[in-house]
Amino acid sequence: MKILINDGIHPSGLEKLKAAGFEVDNIKIPQDELAEKLPEYAAICVRSATKVRSELIDLCPQLKAIGRGGVGLDNIDVEHARNKGIKVLNTPAASSRSVAELAFAHLLSISRFLYKSNRHMPKDGHDEFKALKKSYSKGFELKGKTIGIIGMGRIGREAAKIALGLDMKVLGVDPFVDKAEIKFEIATNHFSVSLPVVSMDEMLSQSDIISLHIPYSGAAVITESEFSKMKDGVILINASRGGTVNEKALLAALDKDKVAAAGIDVFENEPQPMVELIQHPNVSCTPHIGASTNEAQENIGTELADKIIAALKPA
Ligand code: NAD
Repeated sequence: MKILINDGIHPSGLEKLKAAGFEVDNIKIPQDELAEKLPEYAAICVRSATKVRSELIDLCPQLKAIGRGGVGLDNIDVEHARNKGIKVLNTPAASSRSVAELAFAHLLSISRFLYKSNRHMPKDGHDEFKALKKSYSKGFELKGKTIGIIGMGRIGREAAKIALGLDMKVLGVDPFVDKAEIKFEIATNHFSVSLPVVSMDEMLSQSDIISLHIPYSGAAVITESEFSKMKDGVILINASRGGTVNEKALLAALDKDKVAAAGIDVFENEPQPMVELIQHPNVSCTPHIGASTNEAQENIGTELADKIIAALKPA
């Protein structure tokens, strides 16, 4: 059976598919040539670039599986494929740790002004060392601080795990979860911690730091009203999806020092985020790189390969 890898895959995934006995074409067939060439394949693996729409699916009676490396399935007509008995597979958990770690990279950077220091030291560090030392001398420890985590799904639970490891207090918010079980594996010890999930208002009023780990569902979850319920000088981290935080309200909250600093990986208007926000002196920002680590790419590759193998060679 032949498998087409059209948007690339980590070598570990490629090796798995080959070792399982499949003929694998790791090539890029342009979108307008897929109608002619895809019918000879039993499976196609894509990322976000290749579109697998209903018309294309209808031309491929041999197709048994469509694999999407990563989370979203917007580029695949999932229902149409499933109605035809084609398995649609993705790897939603593969990058959870990477995204959670990026949230804490922003948080640790903010806690000791690293993002500011990295902007100013190269320029002024030689001549104004003492002045910069004074500017960045009022950092804080994460130990003992309360972090509110909005969305206790895969990434939110990873974030909670890191927070507990840093001796932080965690308040989860999630309308679909009553209690979040956080599992630890340290050396040969396995244990779990059960975290309470509280109301949004309780979390907003008690948290020193708030981190979002929710999907975008058409409206911002953090607006002017939520900012008004937060502690003064709160830190906001968003590595979820653009639109979950109202950016105008965030900018106003930053300007008033209601929000002392924000760590942002995702923006309303990607790939052209609001200039005032990314240039704000109290914003640590990255260009939507939450899932962009070697480990996440490797996890995506191996997980997708395992799922494709299971779909094409059912036990
Ligand atoms: P998940 O589905 O496992 O968890 C999301 C959780 O959010 C669910 O438990 C859900 O009940 C909860 N939720 C939904 N609406 C909520 C609300 N209004 N308030 C509180 N909780 C709410 O998803 P995940 O894998 O943890 O991913 C979370 C987000 O991270 C997604 O939006 C995803 O797109 C984003 N993400 C970002 C990057 C990046 O590069 N920055 C990479 C991967 C995923």
